[in-house]
Amino acid sequence: MSFSPQESPNVIGLDTSTGSWITSEEPISNSFQKIPQLDGNLVLDPLSLKKASQDQGNYITRIPSVILQPSSHEDIVKMLRFCNKHHIRVAPQGARHTTYGQATVDRGLAIDMTFLNTISIGNETAWVGAGVLWRDFVRIGESHGVQPASSTPDYLGLTIAGTVSVGGFTPRSYIKGNIADNVRSMKVVTGKGDLVQCSRDENQTLFRAMQGTLGQFGIIVELEIEIIPAPKMIRTYTLGYPNLDVFMRDLNTLADRAEAGGLFGMFQPNDTGLVPLLMVDVEYDSVVPDDNHILRGLEVTTPVDATNRTYLERAEFFDKMMEKMEVNGWGKAIKPWYDMIVAAEDVPKHFQETIGTLKPSDISPTTFILLFPAKVLDDRSPYLRIPEKVVPRDRVCLIDLLDDNTGNTHPEYSKKKLTRNNEWANLAEKLGGVSYPIGTRTMDWKKHYGSTWDSLNERKKQFDPKHILIGAHIFS
Ligand SMILES: Cc1cc2nc3c(=O)[nH]c(=O)nc-3n(C[C@H](O)[C@H](O)[C@H](O)COP(=O)(O)OP(=O)(O)OC[C@H]3O[C@@H](n4cnc5c(N)ncnc54)[C@H](O)[C@@H]3O)c2cc1C
Repeated sequence: MSFSPQESPNVIGLDTSTGSWITSEEPISNSFQKIPQLDGNLVLDPLSLKKASQDQGNYITRIPSVILQPSSHEDIVKMLRFCNKHHIRVAPQGARHTTYGQATVDRGLAIDMTFLNTISIGNETAWVGAGVLWRDFVRIGESHGVQPASSTPDYLGLTIAGTVSVGGFTPRSYIKGNIADNVRSMKVVTGKGDLVQCSRDENQTLFRAMQGTLGQFGIIVELEIEIIPAPKMIRTYTLGYPNLDVFMRDLNTLADRAEAGGLFGMFQPNDTGLVPLLMVDVEYDSVVPDDNHILRGLEVTTPVDATNRTYLERAEFFDKMMEKMEVNGWGKAIKPWYDMIVAAEDVPKHFQETIGTLKPSDISPTTFILLFPAKVLDDRSPYLRIPEKVVPRDRVCLIDLLDDNTGNTHPEYSKKKLTRNNEWANLAEKLGGVSYPIGTRTMDWKKHYGSTWDSLNERKKQFDPKHILIGAHIFS
């Protein structure tokens, strides 16, 4: 039988002997357990299950048996308690834009967090539902004259809590650290099913534990994020470089100055290799920035391009590009994304050993190669992994090869690229690099969490003792 989401019959309980969810249309057996009264819905129509079974990578398929579309925090409390009692595994799902099954669960409960989507703008902070997309926050924030202090990911179709759960990088990470560093407080339903408010001052252990751990200990249901005034306009400079050494020197000069609203790198293939481009966003309201002043002292002072856009046009710039790619089926492409964090000084060596070896023919027309510098803040969660040799106030760089199989029909494509990513990640690790855990590679989680591994185990016992939260399958 097939249902459209609207026609899906209500799930009313669980057959504990078979593990099957029972709908209002089915006979009730002796082992029937009624589900708690919910404000939202539990659905199991094939369309919703299929959607929840995959992520942007299109590498891994894990089909949940049921999906919660919550309408309240209490819905999540009730269902986590129910799942604890009946040993059902749970995956909170944001926009599922991770690429190697991090947010998927086999035969368990998937929670579609996008149903928690309230936004309330205050003076210095805004409270947002966990499933609010950055896209929606940017629009509403702009109408109130504010923006997130962390700035936003370049692509806005991600949930705010999803990005906090993985860490989150933006073009302003070079000043503000990870998106997670800019969260004031959170409301979390722990794996045990307790609703707890936490911050740096209140339930600090849980607050730290929720950052960079992929939903391992609890489910963020609401967050308080820092906000600052939004500019009216942004002037974006594109600076082109003859090589990575000069690029890094100018990047460091601009980062030390901390005047730009955003700073990141892109690499564009040409006949001879990859051309490093530095993207510099300068915010203003009415007076256009003086180029000579902004670019003073750099080795490259003539931009390839300098364009003025409204705040919204700049914030949505990559979304518009992605919309066009989506029309051409990009969403279904296999995406072996390579994402590693290395110390800033190790960028040239790592790049040379890995992405720098690519030929233009290795790169699909929809591939992006990006570099986000990020400041390591003093007061941060130890689970937001960085190379252990890096100390607070130093700079790390996230290097991303956002690759896909558009135009490539090689039957071994997925396998070959996964092997490549694993080999490259080993090279990064030799330099002390760590994974940004959103990408496509075989993870050694114990190695990833390094010196924090024992405390991670302690937190698991404390907040999710029955291991019902799949948390990117770190413990399975
Ligand atoms: C086109 C594109 C652009 C991207 N751009 C950026 C970028 O600019 N910066 C960046 O940092 N990353 C970026 N990413 C990478 C990354 O995949 C996302 O940061 C990440 O997926 C978070 O968003 P999400 O809502 O998709 O989370 P999901 O992928 O759904 O979830 C990520 C992890 O967090 C868990 N989780 C989700 N919601 C919650 C919750 N409420 N509570 C607890 N755990 C939860 C999930 O179980 C999973 O383990 C991009 C990805 C894509 C596909």
